[in-house]
Amino acid sequence: MSAGWLRACALVMLGLFSVSALAKDKTVIVVGGGLSGLTAAYELQNKGWQVTLLEAKPTLGGRSGMATSEWIGNDKTQPVLNKYVSTFKLTTTPAPEFVRTPSYLIDGEYFTAADLATKQPATAEALKRYEKTLDELARSIEDPQNPAANSTLFALDQITVSNWLDRLSLPATARQLVNQQIRTRYDEPSRLSLLYFAQQSRVYRGVADRDLRASRLPGGSPVLAQAFAKQLKTIKTSSPVSSISQDKDGVTVKVGSVGYQADYVVLAVPLRALNKIQMTPALDAQHLGAIKGTNYGWRDQIMLKFKTPVWESKARMSGEIYSNTGLGMLWVEPALKGGANVVINLSGDNARVMQAFGDKQIVDQVLIRLHAFYPQARGSFTGYEIRRYSTDPSMGGAYLAFGPGQISKYWRLWERPLQRVAFAGEHTDALYPGTLEGALRTGQRAASQVEDLAAGKSFEPAKVVPAASAAAAGAVAAKKGNFFTNLFGGSDDKPAPAKAPAPVTPVAPAPAPAPAPTPAPAPVEAPKPATPVKAEPAKKAPVKKPAAKTEAKKAPVKATAKKPEPVKKPAVSTAAKTPVTTETKTQ
Ligand SMILES: Cc1cc2nc3c(=O)[nH]c(=O)nc-3n(C[C@H](O)[C@H](O)[C@H](O)COP(=O)(O)OP(=O)(O)OC[C@H]3O[C@@H](n4cnc5c(N)ncnc54)[C@H](O)[C@@H]3O)c2cc1C
Repeated sequence: MSAGWLRACALVMLGLFSVSALAKDKTVIVVGGGLSGLTAAYELQNKGWQVTLLEAKPTLGGRSGMATSEWIGNDKTQPVLNKYVSTFKLTTTPAPEFVRTPSYLIDGEYFTAADLATKQPATAEALKRYEKTLDELARSIEDPQNPAANSTLFALDQITVSNWLDRLSLPATARQLVNQQIRTRYDEPSRLSLLYFAQQSRVYRGVADRDLRASRLPGGSPVLAQAFAKQLKTIKTSSPVSSISQDKDGVTVKVGSVGYQADYVVLAVPLRALNKIQMTPALDAQHLGAIKGTNYGWRDQIMLKFKTPVWESKARMSGEIYSNTGLGMLWVEPALKGGANVVINLSGDNARVMQAFGDKQIVDQVLIRLHAFYPQARGSFTGYEIRRYSTDPSMGGAYLAFGPGQISKYWRLWERPLQRVAFAGEHTDALYPGTLEGALRTGQRAASQVEDLAAGKSFEPAKVVPAASAAAAGAVAAKKGNFFTNLFGGSDDKPAPAKAPAPVTPVAPAPAPAPAPTPAPAPVEAPKPATPVKAEPAKKAPVKKPAAKTEAKKAPVKATAKKPEPVKKPAVSTAAKTPVTTETKTQ
């Protein structure tokens, strides 16, 4: 009997399955089967690693969209996504011109951007003023990878976006539309760090909406997840990881009572899910603080299905359409099998409040509002699918959206591996968090870090700019002048327009305004469940891992008869509260 075989038998008796025991090669476990984990697994397998991917849910793809045919950006805006689309030979179709620019629904009336300028000039002008001021703010960030480069910028991290918007004194309709746009893309303005908003605006500065919606991926991002999965040799679904321990020799990852061993781990789960994994050695206070404190945007996503596209009679309703009331934003899917779908995102604080509703109650609230605008809606309605990302314990939110003070504390914290663990996931990308592109980039980064670790490279602790040195740098920046005049409405280049609000008193480098996070209308943590909701209803068309592959892969040897802990169901209370305005957004 060979030594390898004896070792394997010993591990069986110990209840540990060693990924490395039977392999000659370097071994890695990827935790999380969203697009970041799939990318890391794929890249490492291509480099000769023996990879085991562990996913908590029965299906892969994580938060990748429920929309069945998402729009994707072009090569220039989403190069990594486009690279994989072409590697896997996925089909895309070019976007028609009309979905490439946003439009508006104001008090029930539909406006293109051009219509708005002629029919609602005050609103159009206010939106322009907002965009111009935001652009100036974005311009003030030289390097989006280092947004808090000086004390002035550092101070922006202590301010919320709503503080800043208040000072713009936008007319009511314009402010509603702006609030809607921000909460659908990030989170409620009152919960967002102004520095984060500025940094993201800097990243996308000069990028046209049309380039971000250049083509359509039929089947949506789940198709991409499937394409990755087809390439991977070892995937274990329904395997929620409960602990990871590492020492100088390797790592042990546990799924209930089953242990897996390997040389390295890529941890590709969202922060709230990471909070449920026991780490040995324990994470330090900064990492624990980031896990608990980092703000995530709040979204619930609903797909309503109709027999016919009920919206066609009134307006072109495809693409991003912002509304100032009721339904805040829509994304209409093309007709499928003679019907039509509309994907709606409930976002920000309204969505937080809606957690008090059960699935059907939420759908009813949305239908009531849609029906008011499209009287055929109820009659044509055939069913729905719903995903509640924020109350799903394996996700715990829509995606990263730094709150006030959080860039100062946690900037790029997760880009640095901790001993044998590298981190991936949209929340670990400095430039494109909250996107597919960001998730894919971090999978690639984590894969190359694992290679570096294996080659003996060590990673320096992340540097967070301390306030004192930022203040010193700020003194230099201050000489360049006039930043805060620009921030609230002026410009470096031209005098402030007559209608611009008066500049506020500069706040830097002296103490910044205290962060003013708005109290939540409902607790972020879901209340105790009254009735559990299905984590993954079968009808959702999730990414299906080829059954043969999932089953056929090496099953870990179970030490005891004890079953792995089941994935917890999302907690939702069905106690109905006063209905709130719903908003909708696209995938
Ligand atoms: C409503 C909404 C709309 C969006 N719209 C867009 C858009 O239009 N364009 C765009 O580019 N991006 C969009 N995104 C963002 C995009 O979907 C995400 O950035 C991306 O899917 C995140 O991938 P990820 O791998 O980082 O995380 P995830 O997809 O969340 O993957 C993490 C995986 O880890 C698993 N997991 C968690 N805990 C454990 C555990 N203990 N053990 C094992 N596995 C575990 C989870 O089940 C999950 O599958 C949207 C996201 C949402 C929520």
